Amino acid sequence: MKTLITKSVSKASDIIKKGGIVAFPTETVYGLGADIFNEKAIDKVFKAKKRPNDNPLIAHIGNLEQIKFLASEITPNAQKFIKAFFPSPLTIILPKTKNVPFNATAGLETVGIRMPKNDFTLEFLQACETPLVAPSANLSGKPSPTNWEAVYEDLNGEIDCILQGEISEIGLESTVVDCTGNAPLILRTGAITLEDLQRIIPNTKLYKLKRDEVPKSPGLKHKHYAPRAKVKLIQSSELGGQSAENAGFIGLNTPKNDFKVVKICSSIEQYAQVAFDFFRQCDRAKIEIIFCEKVEEKGIGLALMDRLKRASES
Ligand code: AMP
Ligand code: MG
Repeated sequence: MKTLITKSVSKASDIIKKGGIVAFPTETVYGLGADIFNEKAIDKVFKAKKRPNDNPLIAHIGNLEQIKFLASEITPNAQKFIKAFFPSPLTIILPKTKNVPFNATAGLETVGIRMPKNDFTLEFLQACETPLVAPSANLSGKPSPTNWEAVYEDLNGEIDCILQGEISEIGLESTVVDCTGNAPLILRTGAITLEDLQRIIPNTKLYKLKRDEVPKSPGLKHKHYAPRAKVKLIQSSELGGQSAENAGFIGLNTPKNDFKVVKICSSIEQYAQVAFDFFRQCDRAKIEIIFCEKVEEKGIGLALMDRLKRASES
């Protein structure tokens, strides 16, 4: 398949309307979009990404009116979060309508809904005139793409189109919060933090997967975000003493060793924005081990550490 690489919103949205699949920029990471009401197009997304069928997709909307086509009920907690945050890097889980096909939700009776906070993304979503399912536009298991070149690296020839945009501003996937129960439950951390959500609904909790439990969020059990290189997390007090040969380093402080590929970030926000791209850069440079400096697990640091830990486990 020939993949069209374009900056044209109208060309990209025409492809969606004809049942094709299009990678597009968002403020979190690049997504791989298909019309949520077209089951065949959704199947193509799973196939191109080699994504397990039991991993549900998030619905992306271009305006708030579209929520009623997707959710059978907007719970009071969801209403509060929508009012406080949408458009936003926040995905809310609600009971789905009959219209949403089960291959989008991996058989679940619920659907994740997000309205991205990026003018170009919203222009594209509005031009599509339908909500899009959109997982991250990478091969399953690999680091999520934060620029169109990373999408090209993984999916050129496998998808109909790449809509070229800017580098993703946040660089980590959206926060996912289940709003179907009494207390909102954070299933995946992201740029909308636990503290942000608790300011709106104080009893919002972090979901912790217990051993042997079937996860509430099926995606949690899948291998994620891993570069080919081995990832090792280190404290800033441990900087120095690592063998720098064929190794990379990313963090906030300057290490003593002379690593082959190095990124010193000026803030945790910048660390989050560039981490996945740094992993890809290290793989291209045939780095064998990537040392990542640990950060404090609060605010967006909690989401960054979640992704770094997952990358180090695989
Ligand atoms: P991705 O689009 O690759 O960022 O993955 C989306 C993630 O959102 C999935 O892996 C799930 O963990 C989560 N998710 C999406 N829809 C649901 C849902 N209906 N219920 C629970 N978790 C969901
Ligand atoms: Mg993903």
